[in-house]
Amino acid sequence: MLKSTGANQIVGVPSLMRKIAEHALENGEDPAQAGMRRLIAIGEPTRDASLDLLPSARLIEEAWGAPLYSTYASTEIATTFCECPERRGGHLRPELLVVEIVNDEGRPVPAGETGEVVVTPLGVRGMPLVRFRTGDVSFLMTERCSCGRFSPRLGPILGRKNQMLKFKGTTVFPNAIVAALEGRADVAGACVEVGKSDDGTDRVVVYVHVKDPSVDRRNLEDLLRSRLRVVPEIVLVSEAEINDQMYRPGRRKRVTFLDRRGE
Ligand SMILES: [Zn+2]
Repeated sequence: MLKSTGANQIVGVPSLMRKIAEHALENGEDPAQAGMRRLIAIGEPTRDASLDLLPSARLIEEAWGAPLYSTYASTEIATTFCECPERRGGHLRPELLVVEIVNDEGRPVPAGETGEVVVTPLGVRGMPLVRFRTGDVSFLMTERCSCGRFSPRLGPILGRKNQMLKFKGTTVFPNAIVAALEGRADVAGACVEVGKSDDGTDRVVVYVHVKDPSVDRRNLEDLLRSRLRVVPEIVLVSEAEINDQMYRPGRRKRVTFLDRRGE
């Protein structure tokens, strides 16, 4: 389709962009030769809290030979936080939206502090929302961007507030575990399952499919230890098993988190 239309940009979910690039390579086509000028990510973060590109996002840029730009949006937000060419967070359009970052008590926190993203869209007439809680966790940057704009920027979405895991004394988001694992080119997919353990803490199991059979659990444990400082239980599964888990009929986004804490 890219060839027949001459398209030079893709708007899509990063994990799908990666799949398409892999599919192309497996079929003798080099996606880096497809002439992509830029890739625009929706639905999944591309950077970590330090604004460094996630390893999986780096693989996508290398595969397509084009820069990956992040956006953040939802129906309720009624606009988008889009990265400028400096790619240092998503710029706020202040004429369209008021954004706040709030703590557990719902009070705004200073710029740079992490909390829940709360939005008040200004241009919506049919169903106005006031201080809508998105459930997403991030932070604001208010210093002037190196592109010259003064508008505040929203950092990467670090996770969903209700998906936060309390694990061995550390707080970790499931998507950070998945992102760390998928930074390896040979990891084809990962899914985090959480339940309650006997001592009341979260029991975290990560299902992973690795294409290279010589990779064992210990390699993946070392990776998680170095990137997240926690090592959940890892279960290696087949490609069919991980695909059944991640790709569900009718779902635009893949499923990488199963919450069984309430069961
Ligand atoms: Zn900027």
